[in-house]
Amino acid sequence: MESLPCKGCRGLCCGPVPVTEQELKSIKKKIKSMPHKIRLELENQDRYPGTCIFYDLVKDRCGIHSVRPSICRAFGLYKNLICFRKPDAARAGNWNVEEITAGLLSVDYTWKDFK
Ligand code: SF4
Ligand code: SF4
Repeated sequence: MESLPCKGCRGLCCGPVPVTEQELKSIKKKIKSMPHKIRLELENQDRYPGTCIFYDLVKDRCGIHSVRPSICRAFGLYKNLICFRKPDAARAGNWNVEEITAGLLSVDYTWKDFK
């Protein structure tokens, strides 16, 4: 897979994203399995308005990387999800949601929904 130059972006492209029921379940499981201190630190970071609630500003990466929604996995690699820092990485056609979306992460689902 083409790698993207994400280091230093500090969550620039990580805003509200569509999430499915199955993805929500996986995220809940991941959050519950985190040590309490790590979870609290991630939850209480001082993010920019609009940044995804799970972006880890301290580590400059997704705080739930292994269970991130499918759109996050696809970002930068499709024509309708272009990364402006590396537009050439978008080689495939358009990305489409394959399952029914349960809502938007960071808008419809916030930290209180994952405890
Ligand atoms: S996908 Fe692109 S915009 Fe998003 S963090 Fe990576 S390099 Fe930055
Ligand atoms: S779940 Fe992770 S990759 Fe997706 S928008 Fe949030 S911080 Fe970014």
